[in-house]
Formats: sequence, C-alpha cells, structure tokens
Amino acid sequence: MIYLDNSATTKPSKECIEAMNDALAMNFGNPSSLYRIGLDAEKIVKHAREIIAKSIGADPGEIYFTSCGTESDNTAIYGAWNARKKQGKRIITTAVEHPAVLRCFEKLANEGADVKYIPVLPDGNLDMEAFRSLLSDDTVFVSVMHVNNETGAVFPIEEIAKELKKYPDVIFHSDCVQSYGKLPIDVKSLGVDMISISGHKVHAAKGIGAIYLRSGLHIQPYVFGGGQESGFRSGTENVPGIAGFGAAVENMHMVKPDVKEYLKKRLLEEIEDIQINSPENGAPSVLNVSFIGCRGEVLLHMLEQDGIYVSTGSACSSHKKGSHVLTAQGLKPEAIEGAVRFSFSFDNTAEEIDTVVEKLKQYVGMQRRLRKAAKRS
Ligand code: PLP
Repeated sequence: MIYLDNSATTKPSKECIEAMNDALAMNFGNPSSLYRIGLDAEKIVKHAREIIAKSIGADPGEIYFTSCGTESDNTAIYGAWNARKKQGKRIITTAVEHPAVLRCFEKLANEGADVKYIPVLPDGNLDMEAFRSLLSDDTVFVSVMHVNNETGAVFPIEEIAKELKKYPDVIFHSDCVQSYGKLPIDVKSLGVDMISISGHKVHAAKGIGAIYLRSGLHIQPYVFGGGQESGFRSGTENVPGIAGFGAAVENMHMVKPDVKEYLKKRLLEEIEDIQINSPENGAPSVLNVSFIGCRGEVLLHMLEQDGIYVSTGSACSSHKKGSHVLTAQGLKPEAIEGAVRFSFSFDNTAEEIDTVVEKLKQYVGMQRRLRKAAKRS
C-alpha cells in the first residue's frame, strides 16, 4: 500500500495502539471514580493532557479533550459567539474553512450574526488586505484555519493575531487540525485564544480531539452533563482514545518537505498540462495538482487498483460536487474536475513517489487519449 491521503486520516502508530490496548485491557476504570482503578484511569488522562499541552506550548489546564476536531471547532465557535454576542455582531472566518467551521458560521448567520468571509488569492494564500478591511469595532470573533486541508496553504495566524491586538475583546480561534504535527505550533507565539486539534490526523485513533482554551478566557461549554474536563466538556472521558492520543503525540515526527517537493518536481517535469494548486509557501503535508483533461475521481480509482491512495479533495467533501476551496481560489471547472490531493506523512518515501509518478503517467495518458477519441467520435 502507498498511502498518500494523510490529510483524510493517518495510520495509528504502534505506540498509540499499545497505549490504547493497555488502557482497554488493564485500565477500564472511570476517571471520576474514587477508588484505585478510577484513579489509575485519571492518571492516564492527566499524563496525556501534559504531553499534548507541552506539544503546543500550553499549560495542561488549558487542554480539554473532545470527541474530534469537529466538536472542538463547534465548541470554540458557539462558545465564543455566546460569550460575546451582546458586545458585537460581526464574526469573521475564511471562505475556505473546513465544513466543521463553515456550517457553524452559516448557523450563526441565521441567529443574527453578521458573518464575513475572508477570500483567498489565486495562489491559495489568504487575502490579508481583505481581512483588514473586514475588521470593525463590531467584530467579536475571528476563526482562521492554520493550514488548509485541500491545498496545504498556511495562513498567517501570528500576523492576524497582531492585527487583532487593536480589538482586545475579539476572541481568536484557529482550526489547527491540519497543522498539528505538520508545522511546529506554539499557542503563545501564535497569539491565539483557542485552537482545535484532532487525534486521527496525527497517528492516533478516530473519535478523539482536543481544544486549547487560553487560561483566563471563559466561554460556555458545548456539551453539558456530569462536569468532566473541569466542567467544560461533560461526558465520561474516552480513556483509551486519550491514552493513544498522548502516546501518538509523544512519538510524533514532523512531516518533512522533501517528499512533496520531489513529487512536485517530477510531475512538473514529466507530465504536461498540469497545474499546481498549492501555494509555493504551503505546508509540507499537502500537494494539490490538477491534471487537465482528466477526472480526478477516475484517477483516484485507477490508482486504487495498484494500492495507491489519494484524494480528490477533503474526505468530508468528497461526496459533494466540486470543491469550495478550489472554487474560491478561482480555478476553472476543468481544473477543479482534474484535481487530485496528495497528502503526506513523515514515513512516505521517494521510492513510493517514483511508483506513483510512473502510474500517473500511464493513467493520465490513458484518460486523455480516451477523452480525445470520445470527442472525435
Ligand atoms: N478541520 C479541518 C481543517 C479538517 O481537515 C478536519 C478533518 O478533515 C476537521 C476539522 C474535522 O476533524 P475530525 O475529523 O476530527 O472531526
């Protein structure tokens, strides 16, 4: 198997699996229970919280476990809106966020929020001039993703945070689901109030995520109940998921840019009529390429026959037509139709890329010939 869809999900690491097995088999206690096996489970949760806090330069008390990146985003967005809606109505995000953010903003627009979307430039980078023009005294919340899941574009979180210093009541959230484990993150130097992260994007299991909430910032919980996670996220803790998340993060390796750069170079040199949709200064984890005259979905299935896994967009939007991200970037319909996303992990190799390029040359040529023949007949 050659797995190049690491933005959709990643393979759980052996350390994650071991930690989850141990937690399931030997530590089934409820962390809220007062007897020993409860305390043992609580210790596992505490240890994982410390590891995750350290990995982003936060204090353990600023980390709250959730069920996934989507829940973290929802928690941040509704919480910030409820905390600030009396002070102002404007909330700002980007046109290219993940649906976990976009759907929340749409819902808040129905509840009276004045929602503004920051556009992207044709190269995929954020239009910072447009961002500045959207800021107003009525602005109470800004949510900007760190790395875009479809193109790997890196948005200037520190610069945005600096700009927001002029508006001290604004809460600033960043969806870091695709940057965590790919780029170094330090919440204090990023200048954010909240970030969302997700376990299954960093070689942990699905169904575990976390939110960083800056100490001193108070927002309403999203899930109410027994008061776990210091009352901020109720629900009995997913101890095996948390244990695995901690173990995966403790053994996390950053993705290096060489594999992406090697694929890009070979594609540009060896396959004509392609278009790179990822910005030059994008994250090392994603390369989005349009093979003009092909359908990305057909290429995906052809490669699948050889055990090569890629994607046409984000996994969550793959059942929908088109891509809101590539559309926002101004791509022509044929470039959107021919787009393929390759996304990398620390363990992908140049040898894997060699195989992928050879197969692509074959399948792109095949599709283009078939299309030409179909047009002639
Ligand atoms: N945000 C971004 C940028 C993502 O790429 C994803 C998942 O692809 C999510 C949020 C949702 O994360 P989860 O799958 O953990 O709910």
